[in-house]
Amino acid sequence: MLDITQFDLLKKSTAKSFNDQKALIKKVMAGRQMKCETCGNILRLIVPEDKSTPGVYCGKGCTDICLDFI
Ligand SMILES: [Zn+2]
Repeated sequence: MLDITQFDLLKKSTAKSFNDQKALIKKVMAGRQMKCETCGNILRLIVPEDKSTPGVYCGKGCTDICLDFI
C-alpha cells in the first residue's frame, strides 16, 4: 500500500519539475541560451514549423521536454 505521505511528496516534486520545465521553455523561447543541467550542452528549441515534435532538447537527449503540455 502506498504511504500517503510519500504520495504527497511525490506530487509536490512533480509539480515543481513541471514548473521548472515550463520556466525553462519560456526562457529558451525568449531567445535565451540555456544549458542542459545534465551535460551542459546548449538546449535546442524545436518549433511546430519544424518536422519533429516541438520541444526543448539537448544534443545528448538527457533534456527532452515536449511542448504538448503547455
Ligand atoms: Zn544534456
